Amino acid sequence: MIETRGLGKAYDGVSALRGLDWTVGEGEWWGIIGPNGSGKSTLMRLLSGVERPSSGTIRIRGRHVEDYGRKELSRMMAVLQQEGIMPVHYPVREVLEMGRHPYLNWLGQDMREDVGALIDGIMEKLELQGLADRHLDELSGGQRQRVALGQVMAQEPQILLLDEPTTFLDIHYQQQFMELVAEWRKEAGITVVAVLHDLNLAALYCDKLLVLRDGRAVSMGTPEEMLTSERIRSVYDVEPVIVAHPVYGAPQVLLSKAALKRNKEEGNEWVF
Ligand code: ADP
Ligand code: MG
Repeated sequence: MIETRGLGKAYDGVSALRGLDWTVGEGEWWGIIGPNGSGKSTLMRLLSGVERPSSGTIRIRGRHVEDYGRKELSRMMAVLQQEGIMPVHYPVREVLEMGRHPYLNWLGQDMREDVGALIDGIMEKLELQGLADRHLDELSGGQRQRVALGQVMAQEPQILLLDEPTTFLDIHYQQQFMELVAEWRKEAGITVVAVLHDLNLAALYCDKLLVLRDGRAVSMGTPEEMLTSERIRSVYDVEPVIVAHPVYGAPQVLLSKAALKRNKEEGNEWVF
């Protein structure tokens, strides 16, 4: 679905991403993890065509990204907008309808005749019906994020790109958001690439993880393969404790306190 070869980006001669060879299979859910400044957002901007690579190539379904028309690319790929750039002065339903932009002809007519029903269905699925006429600045953060999701659902893409979609949400809305994406992916078979700060959410929901550090791919593979204590320690410089999720078995990353780290450095046995 997505294939990058030797993908790199430099800003003023300083590399933000280097030599990335990466293949995303159709329908997979990839998480991109790595410390601040490791190139995650840069990669997302390159994938969505917002920025041009300094080196290397990106192919979507075998075609170079730059060979797609702008609207054509928007029908293929949606980027969940960051909260800051959502149009706050429009009512919720209109914000969802904006997702249909790549499907409008020059007369402003939608390619789909049943677009009203499509929007209704999304409003219902995201529990937004009661909020149709409210403006975004009258909503809570969790509600706004559902509207943002509704807009990209209306876009009917085959690839969904998410850059830290849950960072400002409480755990209720974090879980709700991830579940809604998981459900959408199951129903529509979309491919998802998500930058996630929360390693435990990434381990629970993603099939594969790409680990970036200093603009390079440190490693890629399943959450079980990626979230080992050695890798977390070397990539993030923390002393983690990795446990298996008691229900799902996915690795979960716990932090240890400084005393524990010291204890270990001194070569003592440590107890939990
Ligand atoms: P992440 O999303 O992993 O935190 P970014 O992709 O935002 O990292 O940034 C990677 C590196 O590229 C950082 O060193 C950052 O300062 C730099 N960078 C990102 N965008 C720009 C830009 N528009 N101009 C200059 N430097 C940038
Ligand atoms: Mg970022």
